[in-house]
Amino acid sequence: MSLDNISHTGSHTKAAGLTPGADELVPSRYALRVGEIDVLVVSDGVMPIAAQVLGTNVDPAVLKAGLNDMFLPPEVVDWPLNVVVVRSGGRTILVDAGLGVEFPDFPRAGRLALRLEAAGIDLASVTDVVLTHLHMDHVGGLLGDGVKDRLRPDLRVHVAAAEAEFWESPDFSRVSMPRPIPGVLRRAAKQFLNEYHSQLRTFETEYEVAPGVVVRRTGGHTPGHSVVRLASGSDRLTFAGDLVFEVGFDHPDWHNGFEHDPEETARVRVRLLRELAANRELLVATHLSFPSVCHVAVDGDVFRCVPAVWDY
Ligand SMILES: [Zn+2]
Repeated sequence: MSLDNISHTGSHTKAAGLTPGADELVPSRYALRVGEIDVLVVSDGVMPIAAQVLGTNVDPAVLKAGLNDMFLPPEVVDWPLNVVVVRSGGRTILVDAGLGVEFPDFPRAGRLALRLEAAGIDLASVTDVVLTHLHMDHVGGLLGDGVKDRLRPDLRVHVAAAEAEFWESPDFSRVSMPRPIPGVLRRAAKQFLNEYHSQLRTFETEYEVAPGVVVRRTGGHTPGHSVVRLASGSDRLTFAGDLVFEVGFDHPDWHNGFEHDPEETARVRVRLLRELAANRELLVATHLSFPSVCHVAVDGDVFRCVPAVWDY
């Protein structure tokens, strides 16, 4: 096995009688506790995206220099995909579902199902799914590959009412995505809404899914984009979904090409980062480098992600 961080779950896995994913070089899961709440960050893998989407309102030379400062390549960056499993009050909650295996152009993503299994988490034990929004890199893991059949029939899928409504007739006039992507996003969201229609539990502004686990609509990235806020005892953690990208600490005003309302997203991003810096709670976000668990420091208009200590 080469030391390249690529999963090796081929036929030798079955031959050895191992759990799929159990013989990966790294398990790609990271556990922590927030008071009484168990949290597991799981990597769905990484997907390459054109670096230009990280700063669509920035002069290309400035973007290139900024990416270089952050040790990010100028043309194509690997976008991490973090998913979170939360256990509280007897409920097992999957927050977002990664890209899934429906999109063969991204062979290094779609690992979630394997990695949950390797972590001993049966899909049938998941009582709730919370979706920050309905972009394919967040709902794809629920589509295809027999996943729906392995989930329990009484599964509750929580999504903001504004998000479900948006995808009935989505507005792509403000985004800046490579050509084929809007169509793929439309189809994935529609497929999700069709397949999970009867399990959807929509909320207006916020909903407490389990003790100390609150999903709250922020808007911005998409009209129904939501974050998940965990609170137990004096501990706090926020899963920020797509409000914060790798470049969002140094350049919170940079627009991301996937943002359906980029100005509003930047306002929401700065407000959240300032709040997390002030109350010193932990941050996890979808597209920050795994496991992404960090505190937020602030200096004027610039933020910093300070990695948390892992104590397992
Ligand atoms: Zn995303």
